Amino acid sequence: MTSAVLMDGKAKAAQLAAVITADAAALYSSSGVRPGLAVVIVGEDPASQVYVRNKKRTAESCGFHSVQHTLAAETSQQELLRLIESLNNDTGIHGILVQLPLPKHLDELAVTQSIVPEKDVDGFHFQNIGKLAAGHAADTFVPCTPAGCMRLIADQLGSDLSGLNAAIIGRSNIVGKPMASLLLQANATVTICHSRTRDLPGIARRADILVAAIGRPNMVQGDWIKPGAVVVDVGINRIDVDVDGERKSMLTGDVDFASAVRVAKAITPVPGGVGPMTIMMLMSNTLTSARLAASRR
Ligand code: NAD
Repeated sequence: MTSAVLMDGKAKAAQLAAVITADAAALYSSSGVRPGLAVVIVGEDPASQVYVRNKKRTAESCGFHSVQHTLAAETSQQELLRLIESLNNDTGIHGILVQLPLPKHLDELAVTQSIVPEKDVDGFHFQNIGKLAAGHAADTFVPCTPAGCMRLIADQLGSDLSGLNAAIIGRSNIVGKPMASLLLQANATVTICHSRTRDLPGIARRADILVAAIGRPNMVQGDWIKPGAVVVDVGINRIDVDVDGERKSMLTGDVDFASAVRVAKAITPVPGGVGPMTIMMLMSNTLTSARLAASRR
């Protein structure tokens, strides 16, 4: 029985980390500019705390200046906007990231739009979204998760996806939509599917590249996958499973890995696939921002 190639995001992210670390050191010695990343977290969501810790740790290990602002859950909109304004004006900071989701009383859209586009390393500012949608991915901050997915896809299929059908399941602003823009820019023929799509398995089965960004554990079955397809599983779902009579919590993707691995040509594992690449793309965007800041001085 054949088995798909594993697209090892952890190993690839480690390779990229070495390059980014060396590039950051070179930038510092040539210009005195050390890439600076500020991560803002509001409230105590445990998953968000883990993500923020990972981002801070990775930034430090790449030799970046890294700051974390941890704000109480009841922080007001005005206080948060004031902090962002001070980070916008801080010449030692090149990337600002506000960890989402924010507590319900805060206006997420107003907050993400208050970050200046030059420091919007998450790629959520309308100016950066517009540039990506208009086909200027090389000249903007691309959202980190889709950017990481594209690197993994390029390893399997190259950077020109002419003639290939791609299907994305999920139409979020963070993953699905920017993923569609990037695949289109790489010349794939793109279908975006979502909760109102009819015959999802049928559309998925025609895809040479299938990206699942749904948030539903193991939803995409092996028989939804075209034999030889490249499958990118963005989903991160925590589920409880029975291990030797004991309930254990584990992470799983949106793709049923056991059945998909027998049909696909290549597939990302969860964990260890898209997740580590997302963090590394954040470092890459911050380095780019620092380089641009150095060139403007
Ligand atoms: P979201 O909830 O914003 O969007 C989910 C999308 O899935 C929606 O567009 C919805 O239409 C679609 N959907 C939901 N149910 C469906 C169904 N039954 N059939 C077809 N489509 C359906 O989620 P998101 O922010 O895009 O994240 C998606 C998943 O990816 C989550 O599991 C999230 O945790 C994970 N994620 C992982 C990373 C990473 O770094 N690996 C980054 C971001 C998100």
